[in-house]
Amino acid sequence: MVSECIFCKIARVSNREIIYENNNFLSVLDISPAIKGHSLIISKKHFKTILDMPSTLGAELLDCIKKTSLKLMESEKAEGFNIANNSFDCAGQIVDHFHLHILPRKKNDGMSLNLRKK
Ligand code: AMP
Ligand code: ZN
Repeated sequence: MVSECIFCKIARVSNREIIYENNNFLSVLDISPAIKGHSLIISKKHFKTILDMPSTLGAELLDCIKKTSLKLMESEKAEGFNIANNSFDCAGQIVDHFHLHILPRKKNDGMSLNLRKK
């Protein structure tokens, strides 16, 4: 028996709190947060990476990013946020279903998202 993709399952039957959703995307808290409020935007259909997604979904994705980030900034009293995406194994993608990480940020929150070479 082939097991169902974990994010397809969340999109199909999530019993946890949904932060925001529209026709093609939803956002939920990450199960293993890097920082309080760390959330994921997940496509409702299964696409491995952003490259597999039709560009016509762009406006809905942006809508979900904006609404989710605003809600998280309010609930976490954050002053900003990071958006991150890991595409393919070498870039750190663990779950092979398109998702974006939203990380609400505050000054001196101890989080580092270092884009510089080691
Ligand atoms: P990545 O594929 O590396 O971009 O990250 C996958 C993310 O999904 C990690 O931050 C995990 O903590 C998160 N994750 C894995 N399973 C679940 C789940 N069932 N519900 C919420 N988040 C999850
Ligand atoms: Zn999936």
